[in-house]
Amino acid sequence: MSYVIEGKTGSWEIVVGLEVHAQVVSKSKLFSGASTTFGAEPNSQVSLIDAAFPGMLPVINKECVVQAVRTGLGLNARINLESRFDRKNYFYADLPQGYQISQFAHPIVGEGTIEIELSSGETRKIGITRLHMEQDAGKLIHDQDPTKSMVDLNRAGVALMEIVSEPDIREPEEAGAYLRKLRQILRYLGTCDGNMEEGSMRADVNVSVRKAGEPFRTRCEIKNVNSIRFVMQAIEVEAARQVEIWENGGEVDQETRLFDAARGETRTMRSKEDAHDYRYFPDPDLLPLVIEQGWVDALKAALPELPDAKRTRFQSDYGIPFYDAGVLVAEQSVADFYETIAKGRDGKLAVSWVTGDLFAALNRTGKTIETSPVSAEALGKMLDLIADGTINGKIAKEVFEDMVETGEGPDAIVEKKGLRQVTDTGVIDAAIDAVMAKNADKVTEYRSGKDKLFGFFVGQVMKETKGKANPALVNDALKAKLDG
Ligand code: ADP
Ligand code: MG
Repeated sequence: MSYVIEGKTGSWEIVVGLEVHAQVVSKSKLFSGASTTFGAEPNSQVSLIDAAFPGMLPVINKECVVQAVRTGLGLNARINLESRFDRKNYFYADLPQGYQISQFAHPIVGEGTIEIELSSGETRKIGITRLHMEQDAGKLIHDQDPTKSMVDLNRAGVALMEIVSEPDIREPEEAGAYLRKLRQILRYLGTCDGNMEEGSMRADVNVSVRKAGEPFRTRCEIKNVNSIRFVMQAIEVEAARQVEIWENGGEVDQETRLFDAARGETRTMRSKEDAHDYRYFPDPDLLPLVIEQGWVDALKAALPELPDAKRTRFQSDYGIPFYDAGVLVAEQSVADFYETIAKGRDGKLAVSWVTGDLFAALNRTGKTIETSPVSAEALGKMLDLIADGTINGKIAKEVFEDMVETGEGPDAIVEKKGLRQVTDTGVIDAAIDAVMAKNADKVTEYRSGKDKLFGFFVGQVMKETKGKANPALVNDALKAKLDG
């Protein structure tokens, strides 16, 4: 069922297109050698180029081009062998050049697609319009002095990729799924760390509404939304605002708005500027960027396995369901952890331990997969102990908790605590005899037809053997004794 807003004049559909700014992972900036490390002392990573001293000439950083092309390939997009840099002219205190160098008319990456999955299990393709490279601006700081604003130029000149989607998104959930998938792909590629809190990935959200079958109406752009949850909320409240305007006979103005998360509303920032306001023109300091197909092909051949491909392979290699495979590939580190365990073992058992017991333990101890107290190798060894009959599934839970607490290996814990599974039929028979002697009345009930009591006897025998008896042997021996 699709998402609609019911107004007094009928149902409205939401139309959304996203512009994502993703900071490129590279040691130095797009046109200078200054460092890009996050969190440095203000203005300690500023070259003369970033500070726009007269006569300085920008030189393109090849690593940033590599990263943009790899991202384009990861988005199944067309790579443009010739692209150009333009100047986007505007004045702002955090932009010493007086213009931003950006690819306007000739971006390095053209049309592509991202496939998203929705909670209903459906998948949808969202079109990518383009990806272009541009410089980031500096940062103004207003809270350090009562009368002055400060400027930190560390970020000025850092490479960004602007990734623009087609207006294909129809509901808040799809926008969330799109951003999560895009972030996953960027992280797998290592082209952007996707950290929205630190601002290395931010989204401009374009929203309009229309009646079914109508052409698109005027959109508003909500700037710099810095979490996926806020993007979804912003779409919801902005769409509701626009419906109300149209239904009251008004017109939505094309403008740039801000989302105020505390109040749960959007408000005007400025009326929408047009491209000609920026007086774009090709940057005369930079030649057109020309790359070769052979070079692009080599980058493509060296791409890592991306989430969609990994998910499909996990399903077929390890026989696990689509949903489970999706949970595992959401983070590359989790996928790698799982694969270390699952290789050569029971893939289904491995996924239930990773997404069940391990995730719960990480949650409880405030750890991540990277800092997990139980390594993939150790968990794998524990599954081996289950497979070769050294311990049973129930005792494995106890062993695992001990591994979480002590960081010891499963073998050591099994020896230390004497948890080896009891397969000695003599010991099992003795335990059964003891249980039957203690519960003579229940034995009579069972023998007169109360089959359900079988589970009770199994439980008692397991208790008698401190949980260590082999459950299959207990079952067989109990049947024989009770029925015999
Ligand atoms: P600009 O550079 O002015 O922001 P773009 O052509 O780059 O304009 O488009 C920006 C974004 O707006 C794109 O993501 C696009 O999908 C989206 N968009 C375009 N038209 C609409 C619309 N009517 N409703 C919602 N989003 C739209
Ligand atoms: Mg825009």
